[in-house]
Parts: sequence; C-alpha cells; structure tokens
Amino acid sequence: MFNSLSDRLQDTFERLRGKGRLTEADINVAMREIRMALLEADVNYRVVKEFVARCKEKCLTAEVLSSLSPAQNVVKVVLDELTVLLGSTDSRLTLAQNRTPNVIMLVGLQGSGKTTAAAKLAYLLKGQGHSPLLAACDTHRPAAADQLETLGGEIGVPVFRGDGKDAVAVASGSIKEAVDRLCDIVIVDTAGRLQIDEEMMEEAVAIKQAVRPDQILMVVDAMTGQDIVNVVTEFANRVDFDGVIMSKLDGDARGGGALSVREVTGKPIKFVSMGEKPDSLEVFHPDRMAKRILGMGDVVGIIEQAQKVANEQQVADAERMLREGFTMDDLLSQMQQIRKMGGLQKLAGMIPGMERAMAQMPQAASDEQLTRIESIIRSMTKEERARPKIINGQRRRRIATGSGRSVQEVNQLIKQWDEMNKMMGKMKGMMQPGAAGKKNR
Ligand code: GDP
Repeated sequence: MFNSLSDRLQDTFERLRGKGRLTEADINVAMREIRMALLEADVNYRVVKEFVARCKEKCLTAEVLSSLSPAQNVVKVVLDELTVLLGSTDSRLTLAQNRTPNVIMLVGLQGSGKTTAAAKLAYLLKGQGHSPLLAACDTHRPAAADQLETLGGEIGVPVFRGDGKDAVAVASGSIKEAVDRLCDIVIVDTAGRLQIDEEMMEEAVAIKQAVRPDQILMVVDAMTGQDIVNVVTEFANRVDFDGVIMSKLDGDARGGGALSVREVTGKPIKFVSMGEKPDSLEVFHPDRMAKRILGMGDVVGIIEQAQKVANEQQVADAERMLREGFTMDDLLSQMQQIRKMGGLQKLAGMIPGMERAMAQMPQAASDEQLTRIESIIRSMTKEERARPKIINGQRRRRIATGSGRSVQEVNQLIKQWDEMNKMMGKMKGMMQPGAAGKKNR
C-alpha cells in the first residue's frame, strides 16, 4: 500500500536535500511533484489541491526551524500536513461507560470486508478483556450468517442469528441475547449492496433506530480510490457514522481513499485491516502512517509488534544487539521472530528506509530466502556463528557444502550480516535523543 506514493514523495525530498538553499522556485517544483504524486495515488482532486496549497503556504511563510536544514523543514511541513490529513490524533473506539451492552454497528458496501471486519473487531476487543457477541444482521446475502458463524467459531466469540430473515428483529434480539449471555459488546454486521441502494439505506437506518448504536463504523475497501468520496458521503448523509474501518490496506491499493476520507467527511479512520486473518485489524495512528508514507518508519509500531511476541529475554537480547551488534545466532532467532510477527513484508514498512532498500534487492526480501539463510547458518559452527569475521574461504566452502547452497550464497549472507550490523548502528543513532532522525519528526 502507498508504495508508489511513498517512493515518489521520497524522490522529491531527495532532490531537495541535494540543494543547500531553497528558492521559491525549488519549493514550487517540489509542490508540483507532490501534487502529481497524490493525484496518481488517486487522492481526491479537491483534497490534493487544498493539501498542496496548505503545504506551500507553510513552506514559504512558516518560521524556519534553525535546527533543521531547508529540505528538512519542507519534509516537516509535509509530514505535519499529512498527519492532519489522516486525522491528527488517534481516534480510538470510544465505548459508553454506563451502558451494557455497548453496540457497535458496521455498515458498508458488499465486499468491502464488513463481515470479516466484524469478526476481527470482536477478536481485538476480546483480547482487551471484553466479551463480545456478533449479530448476523446481513440477512440478504445467504452465506453471510454462515461466514460470521465460522469466523466466530474460529475466534471463540458467540454469533446470534435470530430467525435469519428480519434484520431489524435480529439486531434487537441480539441485544437481549447479549444481556442473557453477559456479553458487554454487540457487534452488528449489516447487509451491503454492490452499490448505494435505497433499501439498504432504509434497513441500516431502521437497525440504527432499533438498537441505538454507541458507534457506527463504516467499512471501506482501500482499493476504492476516488469513488470513495461518493460512497462515504452518501452513507454520512443517510445513516451517519462515527468512523471508518479501512480494509484491504495490505493489497496494492494506491491509498487515495485512505488519504481522502477524513478531509471529505470529517470522519476519522479508526482501524485499518491489513489481511484476511482475525488478528489483522489494527488501531489506526495517523502520525505513524504519515511517517511510513514518507519513509521514516514506525519505530513505535515495531516495538508494539515485538511486544506481542517477545518475552523478557528477547527484549534483553534486542538491547544487547543494539549495543554490541549481533551474531549469526541472533540473526537466526530474529528470523524466527520475524515469522511470528507476520513476515518480512509487514515489518519492512515500519523500519525507516527498509521498504525501499528491500525493493532494490528483492532476492533478500522473500520468506523463502529466510529458509535458505537459516540452512546456511545451521551449517556454521558455534564459534563461526558468534564471530562471523573468522569465516575464511575454506570455512565458506565447508558451510556451502554442509547446507547444500553455493559459496556465493554464503558470501552474500556474510556480506548482508555485515551491512545489517552497520544499518543497526545507524538506527541506533536515529533513536538516540537529539539525533536528527528523532528531533525533526
Ligand atoms: P462483506 O461483503 O462486506 O461482508 O465482505 P467480506 O467480509 O465477506 O469480505 C470480502 C472479501 O474480502 C473476503 O474474501 C475477505 O477475506 C476479503 N478481505 C476482507 N478484509 C480484508 C483485508 O483487510 N485484506 C485482504 N487481503 N482481504 C480482505
């Protein structure tokens, strides 16, 4: 997601960095490039126009921070504006304190990912200690209730189907069921259509009146692009909603919809869905997403992701590696961690500059490659793993034979290990207080 937008913006900034002083003409060229990049990412035309106008005005008039270079000042302006465009602050799900059960209603077009989002949200809330109930109110698509029931079974969340015919009755019945089962949140999945349709809107409004949801979330497919504006505006006018779940951000969506929705409707993106599995729904953080788009990585995201799978020993190991560099054994256990954390692709977007680096060396980026690397490391002796510098030509040949890989592959791994150690040194620099990488962003 956002890959080509991200590349183009970073190219623009790189060109600016090449210049010592920036003239108004330089800023104009950069703003034109940013405008083109956003339009090509399918961001709504009006949103682009206003965004670029704001950036330009700030670049030309804003007080220039003396701690930053002229190019860094431009990056900072764009980062700040991008964060505002995406929603400024975190828009967490607000639940009513004095009502049990809370009711969350999902609306959206058919195929947007509503039913799976309902299950993902249930999974997320269950993980936070809630006890959710799923209400299958999409009574139009025959398979929807079965799909929800299967998903509910997978994540251990009950599903209420009622008579499976009257969506409003199912919704009302689900509240009673939740009370009986001591569930504190009901997540109502509603029917969608391929496009906006009167009956769908009326039904959504009727369900809304019947269950008085605390939150209505609209599920929007990130691939929608420009069209998103019409769809969300229509839903906002008819049913109204509190926030957006942006689904399928893991695909090759250009990101235009995600960047337009807040500006067009004033509604925040609350969650993003990055895959088909139940654990792929994430709370949306506009600031982190803006940084990722600008290639600055998401260090907090990595830490959070790591915390999900890491134990104390691993945290201590990570600190040691940042301090002293890492061994081949560390690399091996890191690769196992990476698998647990969702694979390389997911992590790469969070590490500053990593996604671009990986795109330039695709052979290093596949999970298949991880398996090959593992086999090479396993053919090294204990001493070689701890001190890869001692691996001379003879040892390289032995390791290659042992692992069934070529000497070139062994050479390549050792070279990569060396480069990764250097990169880690750089990251360490960026994470230290006062370092430019932290201060300006
Ligand atoms: P509904 O008609 O709105 O209820 O849509 P579904 O929940 O049935 O989703 C439609 C399709 O999109 C299904 O095949 C889902 O597995 C898929 N899907 C939903 N969310 C995501 C996502 O975040 N990423 C990917 N890759 N696929 C998704």
